[in-house]
Amino acid sequence: MAKKVQDALKDLVSLCKRRGFIFPGSEIYDGLANTWDYGPYGIELKRNIKNLWWKKFVSSRPDVLGLDSSILLNPKVWVASGHVGNFSDPLVDCKACRERFRADQLLEEKLGDGAAAGKNFEEIDAMMKENAIECPSCGKSDWTQPRAFNLMFQTEIGVVEGAGNKVYLRPETAQGIFINFKNIMDNVRPKIPFGVGQIGKSFRNEITPGNFIFRTREFEQMELEFFCEPGTEVEWYNYWKEFCMKWLVEELGITENKLRLREHAKEELSHYSNGTSDVEYEFPFGWGELWGIASRTDFDLKQHQEHSRVKQEYYDAVNNKRYVPFVVEPSLGVDRLLLVLLCDAYDVEQLENDERTVMHFHPSVAPVKAAVLPLVKKGKVKEKAEEIFQKLIKRWNVEYDETQSIGKRYRRQDELGTPFCITVDFDTVGEGESDASKLGFVTVRERDSMKQELVAIENLEAYLAEKIGY
Ligand SMILES: [Zn+2]
Repeated sequence: MAKKVQDALKDLVSLCKRRGFIFPGSEIYDGLANTWDYGPYGIELKRNIKNLWWKKFVSSRPDVLGLDSSILLNPKVWVASGHVGNFSDPLVDCKACRERFRADQLLEEKLGDGAAAGKNFEEIDAMMKENAIECPSCGKSDWTQPRAFNLMFQTEIGVVEGAGNKVYLRPETAQGIFINFKNIMDNVRPKIPFGVGQIGKSFRNEITPGNFIFRTREFEQMELEFFCEPGTEVEWYNYWKEFCMKWLVEELGITENKLRLREHAKEELSHYSNGTSDVEYEFPFGWGELWGIASRTDFDLKQHQEHSRVKQEYYDAVNNKRYVPFVVEPSLGVDRLLLVLLCDAYDVEQLENDERTVMHFHPSVAPVKAAVLPLVKKGKVKEKAEEIFQKLIKRWNVEYDETQSIGKRYRRQDELGTPFCITVDFDTVGEGESDASKLGFVTVRERDSMKQELVAIENLEAYLAEKIGY
């Protein structure tokens, strides 16, 4: 499995490095397994994703507020949330080659999604034997008993080493929202239903990370906790499933038939959830989870109420009643969505006498929105091109490139996924034997169709804004 996956992603991983999207972490020191650094184009893509999410899910909605809570929280938070007790995976060692794996993943790869859901360690052990699960590394099937491996990273606070100072790096941003519920209620006083959104880093000490940036130990989340009145949660759960899907297809341009919504079976559900779905994407290595949308009832707030002894209630003044709100949580990984966008955009096209690698990013997420390419690098043509570039860069990330042939410059921008190339030539500036009807016009080449269109310079910014969407 692992090898096949590497092959499926190999070309994309290599393009990501070559074009400055994503570099292997700590590379000059021989790397650090499963860490990745976002390069100049990767970070633009990432920022666009976060900005678009924030705008769609938080700032453009009167019923959603934003928050930025700490990565380090009082360890009691993780006791209350269940992470200290239960946030672990069943770890097995291959006795033959000593490699370690998640037993539930091995079982699900062979038996299908949810095969190991809700099973205890004895049951998992029995299933491993019954199904003669083979080691992905060496092919033997000689396993240790599964044992719990907690996924939270630990560290210590302060200068004195020892007990009492232990803290965890948060494994999710959601709990930071729950523990601020009372602060938001008391001070901001929103009316239910309302949501709180947060973007931030989370950390999980995964046993088997991999598939490029699909599963990394350090990752970034975009989470929304939507608080509603008990009894209305099913309606909101359905609402958010549809809202999330629409955003992916209609605004990020992700191929619709590569997305599916997988409703969890009863055995897969957490004990507190009355509905959970995964939005899945068909990656080159198979279907994988992109977005988890869960109806979590009042579990989290009740847990914090019990452990902190601070009431987590909402007072409905109109109907004069108090209750602990229910919560619906759409939880999405930034890096995971970024991988989906990369996989979905990546294409090698056969042209008449050539082939080109092209990233078909939607203009809203594309790291570079446009490239300004003067046909010659001197005189009025260069001056005009620079003037256009200076104007556009105030608004978007655009590039100016006057090196190499125009064909090579197009290919480079195709690989970056730049949706528009703007060429400035003699006609634009009325130099030499130029066509007077084209004076003041530039040629805009659209990446996917490679069609060229004349656009008046004074209309250029509006032209681009309409396609980019901001
Ligand atoms: Zn092995």
